[in-house]
Amino acid sequence: MPKPIVAIVGRPNVGKSTLFNKLAGRRIAIVEDTPGVTRDRIYAEAEWLKYNFTMIDTGGIEPESDDVIISQMRRQAQIAIETADVIIFLVDGKSGITPADYEVSQMLRKSKKPIVLVVNKVDRITEEDNAYEFYNLGIGEPIAISSSQGLGLGDMLDRVVEHFDSIIGENEEDEYIRIAFVGKPNVGKSSLVNKILGEERNIVSNIPGTTRDAIDSIIDREEGKFVLVDTAGIRRRSKIKDEIERYSVVRTYAALERADVCILMIDAEDGISEQDQRIIGYAHEMSKAIMVIVNKWDLIEKETNTMNEFKKNLQHELSFMSYAPYLFISAKTGQRVHKVLEMAKMCYDNYNKRVKTGVLNDVISRAVTMQEPPIVGIRRMKIYYATQTGVKPPTFIFFVNDPEALHFSYGRYLENQLRDSFDFSGTGIKMEFRERKS
Ligand code: GDP
Ligand code: GDP
Repeated sequence: MPKPIVAIVGRPNVGKSTLFNKLAGRRIAIVEDTPGVTRDRIYAEAEWLKYNFTMIDTGGIEPESDDVIISQMRRQAQIAIETADVIIFLVDGKSGITPADYEVSQMLRKSKKPIVLVVNKVDRITEEDNAYEFYNLGIGEPIAISSSQGLGLGDMLDRVVEHFDSIIGENEEDEYIRIAFVGKPNVGKSSLVNKILGEERNIVSNIPGTTRDAIDSIIDREEGKFVLVDTAGIRRRSKIKDEIERYSVVRTYAALERADVCILMIDAEDGISEQDQRIIGYAHEMSKAIMVIVNKWDLIEKETNTMNEFKKNLQHELSFMSYAPYLFISAKTGQRVHKVLEMAKMCYDNYNKRVKTGVLNDVISRAVTMQEPPIVGIRRMKIYYATQTGVKPPTFIFFVNDPEALHFSYGRYLENQLRDSFDFSGTGIKMEFRERKS
């Protein structure tokens, strides 16, 4: 089940970053060799009560003049409307309502998305009256908080999560396998989706960025029912000169968050870029099902081992997700295009796989016998038992004497043992270690 996405929208300096940082809980466990993923604060994981959700930061450049602020905010609000399930509209209780606030309220109101109007910088209870004037925005009851003092955050989160139940309910009935195609502009995402659909649905052009926005297509095939999501082109970002770049990453991120299977598409002539690694790194961190497609294979001059060599190089660049399968296709000629959904279904089945507790524990105890956990500090981790608590992705909990005594290399060893014993190719898996008294 995809996590709800919450976006914070607001003028520069109202306190978006301060709030974001306050709410950002434990970061998603960072796999140390995932390139680039920690460097950028596009999203953070947060939780409140029984809910886990993802916060995305739609903020980009901070413009100077009022005109620019207004146009920038329109775009920011647009992204939030497209990508988020709930929007926190943050305003500044010290400066009062501004023209930009009115503009954005109007857009948000029209969108029919759940909006929580939050008045920040109400640092003292005596200042709560400052919030009342924001009723005039016409988007409901304002709630007063102080991000820097940490006041009112609980009440605000109550208002946010109140909208989640309906969203989560909707998704549970979804029997479609959601596939997100990501990759740089011009790698052939639209061409491939069109080829699969067998019709000219999206406009294909070789001007980079023509297929900007995510487009969903639904198809029923013998392999299953699919939603194909052709994402906005991800362009290489040069110091966020153009805020659109950031927006396209935010959009892509949201598409990945909602997808079951994430397909990274690469142009055979260009190879893989750092940006590709970063984007698919997000999917890896979310433990999604993942596959890699090398497109435009028709343009490559082939010798006996070309494909293997190519694959070996890519696997080296993407070594943090060695479970991902590769497919070499030509969306133009149709070569191996029929294998795309077949492979996606295979990844999905493993993403949805459940293993029996008995067999699982046999595998773990054999693994421990073969190689004992190392001593970390002064303790050696002891595993009492393990159980699979969920699918999409397969999630395992290990009950141990002391989770602190887990060495990351041993975690990796256990993951490899699981992967050797059960077929989890094409999917990430999650492992958690919890303390349990013997
Ligand atoms: P952003 O541009 O919207 O991300 O705003 P920032 O989070 O960078 O905050 C802008 C300024 O407002 C900073 O100087 C913060 O310290 C300050 N600020 C943020 N939250 C509060 C608050 O609750 N009360 C007060 N008094 N100042 C705040
Ligand atoms: P997108 O931006 O990733 O959606 O890429 P498009 O589908 O718009 O394709 C960009 C260009 O690459 C278009 O001119 C396509 O005709 C061309 N193209 C797409 N797939 C192939 C392929 O397999 N082989 C060749 N030679 N060209 C392709």
